[in-house]
Amino acid sequence: MNIHEYQAKQLFQHYHIPIPEGKQATMPEQAGAIAQSLGGEGWVVKAQVHAGGRGKVGGVKLAKTSGEVAGFTRAMLGTRLVTAQTDAVGLPVHSVLVEKTYPIKRELYLSLVLDRGTERLIFIASAAGGMDIEAVAHDAPEKILTVSVHPAAGLQGYQCRKVAYALGLSGTQHKAIAAIMQGMYSLFLAKDASQIEINPLIETDGGDLLALDAKINFDDNAVALHPDILAMKDSAQEDDKENEAQQFGLNYITLDGNIGCMVNGAGLAMATMDLVKLKGGLPANFLDVGGGTNVEKVCEAFKLILSDGNVKAVLVNIFGGIVKCDVIALGILEAIKQVHVAVPVVVRLEGTNVEEGRALLSDTGLGIYAADDLAHAAEQVVALAEAVA
Ligand code: ADP
Ligand code: MG
Repeated sequence: MNIHEYQAKQLFQHYHIPIPEGKQATMPEQAGAIAQSLGGEGWVVKAQVHAGGRGKVGGVKLAKTSGEVAGFTRAMLGTRLVTAQTDAVGLPVHSVLVEKTYPIKRELYLSLVLDRGTERLIFIASAAGGMDIEAVAHDAPEKILTVSVHPAAGLQGYQCRKVAYALGLSGTQHKAIAAIMQGMYSLFLAKDASQIEINPLIETDGGDLLALDAKINFDDNAVALHPDILAMKDSAQEDDKENEAQQFGLNYITLDGNIGCMVNGAGLAMATMDLVKLKGGLPANFLDVGGGTNVEKVCEAFKLILSDGNVKAVLVNIFGGIVKCDVIALGILEAIKQVHVAVPVVVRLEGTNVEEGRALLSDTGLGIYAADDLAHAAEQVVALAEAVA
């Protein structure tokens, strides 16, 4: 799960990571008033969307007067921001963060992520922070330092000093960077984050360190343990279909292809997508209807798949272990009754009550193709999708 920058900065504050003075606004006049109450020489207006890369596309604007702050806010609200990190449709801007500007001496990079290879949390630091960190990682990887934290030992003082040297910080700044790293580490563990990124972490002309940007991702499988984090969820920033799927306890992810897939079990769903690809097709989605599914869930799953206009054919691949095949068959029939299904549906059922399930689906006159072999089912659905396309 992602949260907005302003929310990430609220969490930073709790963990004693220094942030710029600022406040979130949802109206232009409110943004102007925030600037006035913050005081200072100038302000920055930052579009709040669940994506970075805003600075390069007008999502971060420097303002000299509170009137300008209100003006930029008015121009941003209600638009969609398309950045290098979003798709072509972009994300809706429903609020902005108004902050004081700070005299920037240097822009640094600091993040904490889970490294699955070593099964440890690693800090990634670079003195070449700012908007082009991706290019640095690509062109000059030697400018990036990683420090791996042993879970039993925790973050050690020498590791903070290593980062401090890599970032070219002075002796007096060592304490500050250690406090920031400790704050990130505590926050990561306490809230089950999967990534915390500060880019840029700035050094001001006065030598202070400040988290000018803040990005936190959380582990979806742990977020139910953290009601405070869950309360920060902004569904408007997420895929509509994925939101809907969540309501019905379905595990759904939109993809680019034209073959809808409905499968029970995440592993079988992955294998099914692989097989579709192997047979020359492209899956339109990943969908795991779960182990113990029922008619209603199958029905909703079907509606979800068919609401994607790219879908030219559907492959249902169910292994009836916990769920019975006849229940799945009834769900498919119910869905076809409720939704206008204009595309062919290939169904491969196997397991408990498979004969009853297949009998229910045969001779319906509804464009349902029964397949008893998975490879054959994949070939069939690819051929049907091509015939329609
Ligand atoms: P993004 O990563 O989405 O492009 P950032 O928050 O990193 O957005 O902002 C982009 C750039 O805007 C920063 O690298 C920094 O140069 C400038 N900036 C952002 N916030 C401030 C601020 N409070 N004061 C001065 N400059 C800022
Ligand atoms: Mg940034």
